Amino acid sequence: MKLTRRNFIAAVIGGVAGIQVTPLPWKLTDDAAIWTQNWPWVPVPPTGEFTDVSSVCNLCPGGCGISVRKVDDRAIKIEGRTDYPVNPGGICPVGMGGLQLLYDESLRFTGPMKRAGLRGAGEFTEISWGEAFDILAGRISTLRKKGTPEAIAAVDGNPEGTTVSVLIKRLMKAMGSPNYVRPPSLTDTYRMGNLLMQGTLAPMAYDLENSDYVLSFGCGLLEGWGAPGRVMNAWGMWHDGNPAKRKTRIVQVESRASNTASKADMWVTPRPGTDGALALGLAHVIIKSGQYDSRFVVDHSFGFDDWRSLEGTNHTGFKRLVLEKYSPEQVAKITGVNQKTIVSLAKAFANAKAPVAVYGKGKDSLNGSLYEFMAVQSLNALVGSINRSGGVLLPDPIPLSDFPLLEVDAIAGEGLKRPRLDQAGTMRYPFADSLINNFTDAINNSPKSPVDTLLVFSANPFFTLPDGGGFENALEKIPFVVSFSPYRDETANMADLILPDCTYLEKIDDIVWPIGVQYPLYGLSKPVVEPLYNTKNSGDTVIELSRAIGESVGSGFPWETFEEALQARAKGLFDAGGGLVSYDPDAPAWQRQTAGNGPKPEYKSFDEMWEGMQSGGMWYRPVSSPKSWKGLFNTPSGKFEFSSKLIAQAIEDYSNKISKKAALKNMGLAAIDDEACMAHYEAPEAGVDRSAYPLRMLPYEMINLASGWIPSPPFLYKTIFENQLLKDKSFAAINPKTAAKYHLKEGELVAVKSPVGEVKVRINLFEGAMPGIVYLPLGFGHSAYDEFMKGKGVNPNNIVQAGQDALSGYPVWWNTPVKLVKV
Ligand code: SF4
Repeated sequence: MKLTRRNFIAAVIGGVAGIQVTPLPWKLTDDAAIWTQNWPWVPVPPTGEFTDVSSVCNLCPGGCGISVRKVDDRAIKIEGRTDYPVNPGGICPVGMGGLQLLYDESLRFTGPMKRAGLRGAGEFTEISWGEAFDILAGRISTLRKKGTPEAIAAVDGNPEGTTVSVLIKRLMKAMGSPNYVRPPSLTDTYRMGNLLMQGTLAPMAYDLENSDYVLSFGCGLLEGWGAPGRVMNAWGMWHDGNPAKRKTRIVQVESRASNTASKADMWVTPRPGTDGALALGLAHVIIKSGQYDSRFVVDHSFGFDDWRSLEGTNHTGFKRLVLEKYSPEQVAKITGVNQKTIVSLAKAFANAKAPVAVYGKGKDSLNGSLYEFMAVQSLNALVGSINRSGGVLLPDPIPLSDFPLLEVDAIAGEGLKRPRLDQAGTMRYPFADSLINNFTDAINNSPKSPVDTLLVFSANPFFTLPDGGGFENALEKIPFVVSFSPYRDETANMADLILPDCTYLEKIDDIVWPIGVQYPLYGLSKPVVEPLYNTKNSGDTVIELSRAIGESVGSGFPWETFEEALQARAKGLFDAGGGLVSYDPDAPAWQRQTAGNGPKPEYKSFDEMWEGMQSGGMWYRPVSSPKSWKGLFNTPSGKFEFSSKLIAQAIEDYSNKISKKAALKNMGLAAIDDEACMAHYEAPEAGVDRSAYPLRMLPYEMINLASGWIPSPPFLYKTIFENQLLKDKSFAAINPKTAAKYHLKEGELVAVKSPVGEVKVRINLFEGAMPGIVYLPLGFGHSAYDEFMKGKGVNPNNIVQAGQDALSGYPVWWNTPVKLVKV
């Protein structure tokens, strides 16, 4: 049962290839064994008792069920669980390699520490937890006594709605700081788009398993988009059985021949950043040919036809906008996709029985564009794929209990009145709740950092933010940085104090609704092994810190432990009166059940439910019958809004303060009046001399390399192709035509220069690259971690010239102008 290097790699490849995901190079299994001979931490478990412990992976927001095999206390293998609804049996390569994130001491902090060397050098001295709390609580108390609690800020990378995230937000509020920000993610785009069109902040719920036509706008279905275990399982279902009788067609809209694109039934290649225009071109064809769902449009939508307000003003509707501005001819010019393809794609989508258009850019860690999302969601509405099997569902939220109302003291009350540094929620950014790029700019553009003490939870913004190194500069200016990371990542290396979290295999935690899943699911992970080192669950750390700061803050945290706080929220699940805590693979969660409160509970008391959740790692309600339309959309019109009244109101409110022209400009809108309230195409701001930077750089993500805040298990570096990383050089994929134009050859070393920086890479000639685009893989280029990750390749984020997405203010990371210069 020894986990060898050879069978690890084979398992990763087998697991991936077995669900037809990635044709990773078999030859690597040969040299992997040789290559890894000297890794000191490869486990050689002693003879002992075998056990299998069930838990849930939260290395990404996908929340896969995992089974961890142990020999005595030593974990030796991670597999996907067949008795978990998200990922029946499947698991991604990062999840398979999770043991390396547990046992590789060189990646981890072994206890609380304070900085001993220069910032960024990663030199720390161990201290006790008592000393760590004293240092941090003392600093926070001093800021509060000075009446400047807003100078405490937090970056929280825990997924939205998780209990630890709710506690961190609560701590910030109790201390009196409005400066709580999150790294951007696709979830932000979904939340804002759904709020504007459907009136709800409920998670995105795509009924993929029941769809017969999946039109994917940029989603890396095989690269880790959504809940990857679930999506890969759905992909397996779509391809099960006789290929000639396959029910579901998959169309990938993407400029690069990704794995998803190359395995889809059809691959469509609009210019980067023009997906929204393509979606509107399809809408044009569907409307013009009368193939739209008139029942949905008439009964359940607002803003499709022209309309007149109560004040008697005439307004343009979505139909007119699309018919006038997005004909196949017009859209072909914008996107580069030919008219015939636009027409045939529109017809195929409209003719399918249960089509769904899904939106995303890469994995969850990359936010999208708001109007692009709205264009794609408008397509779903047009064909009636909202609240319909196989389309977009609108399930009830997870019935978690709220924590008791927080009462703040006078100091906190004053601090909370001060403006947020990121301007989220202001008239300029009315619908955003966090804009980390603005937060970074506020620090970098001030002579003295407005943030005195920065707390960083489950995030590595130094590495992951598409901001050309902006966050790194901000970190240098902030007087005191505290990291709660279990890992020695780039941001943690810049910290003055480390209060290390446990890894996901050592602690209890929750996963609130894995992204994109179509039914409410609450996952609960548990400690698979005792903490190896002197680390602490960040949930417990937050509670203890609140007490150390003082009674007026600590009284808002009445729980002894994090587990108690989890239970307090889970009480709502019990009170809701229906839900399952175990999974029968013969009754898939995506098959429709009767509506109402869901299945009869399997438990009679809260304790019984909690015990079931700990053992099964889940509480969920399978998909219920289509919901009643009554009250489904919580928008101002009570309907699905092709034309958002919230946007109209926000523009009007802002225009009452400053001129309308200035308001629109500040909101980043080129469109005016009704157009600004609907899905439309706006060319991303250029702001740079394109003749000096004639190409465009596009980062891309891979399933077999972590590109977020979690390090990649080092073994995964041996699943990387030699034309993606060779020794310490990563590659830029460019089309041979681009290479010919700039006289470049395969393997040649070049500098990719943008207006904000440069990286040196080798050239990979790739027919699947769109001419004029330089594709750089995300996940390489660490300056932290161990010898297997540090200095391997480059990080494209370092040269991203981040613009701002219209209205949302999220970073635009797909529009960086670059040039290639031979080195
Ligand atoms: S997809 Fe995400 S949750 Fe699932 S195994 Fe991989 S990292 Fe873990």
